[in-house]
Amino acid sequence: MKYSKQIVKKLTIIVLSILCIIYLSSCQANKVVSSKINIEVEKSNIYELILTTEHAIIYIDKDYLTKPEMVDIAEKIETGINDVKNYLGDKYIRKDVSKEKVEYYIKKGKDVIMSSAIGGDIELIRVKEKRSPYVHETVHVLASSNIDTKYWLFEGLAVHLQDIFGENPSPPNLGKDIDKLAKEILTNDVSDDLLAFKNELAYVGETKKRNEFYKLSASLVKYIENEYGKEKLLRIYYSEDIEKVTGKSFEDIKKGWIEYVKKSE
Ligand SMILES: [Zn+2]
Repeated sequence: MKYSKQIVKKLTIIVLSILCIIYLSSCQANKVVSSKINIEVEKSNIYELILTTEHAIIYIDKDYLTKPEMVDIAEKIETGINDVKNYLGDKYIRKDVSKEKVEYYIKKGKDVIMSSAIGGDIELIRVKEKRSPYVHETVHVLASSNIDTKYWLFEGLAVHLQDIFGENPSPPNLGKDIDKLAKEILTNDVSDDLLAFKNELAYVGETKKRNEFYKLSASLVKYIENEYGKEKLLRIYYSEDIEKVTGKSFEDIKKGWIEYVKKSE
């Protein structure tokens, strides 16, 4: 009797140890640890994981990112939100991110063709390749414009800030100097509608023209920021009259910008 009691005791210890190992390894599977920011992890039936940072909720498609890749994009997004928030300041930010987190959907890319920020929710593709325009889309949400904002300002500011704060080279310039790209377009027989910065060019199916519109817009936004300062740029962005704010007509500003870009090395 004594002998079998010992066996039972040993078996119990073995079973408990196995259960403990299974429990610990399942905890490990859901652990996403960053040395830079605090990330809370939630399991989900629909998503691989849902990560929550101070200002963001990040939904990650199943079977897509590794744990280090998840940490990387969560850190980038959280830093990006803070950078854009500081850039805009209390006066020009249009979403109180301390009360309402920004939602990001990390997509494998099969059902979406490009990253977007529709209705305040951001979809990001090419996260694995480190090519997602996460700052660009964050700008669209944090500086959500009123209906009158011209698209060259709307997209130009987003591309410009992705360039400054984004750690990913992403479309349309893929990390290349935006003024050099603008110079190429402006010296290669640029079309009148591009130079008129017509709103509809932001949505033309013709990808080349749309890309050119984004590049020229970003270069012009950057020029206005350098020439007149961030405050004036943001006032124009939120539809204040460009001539009232700068003392110059849009045509004169464009002339100055074209001269500047053509002279740039
Ligand atoms: Zn955009």
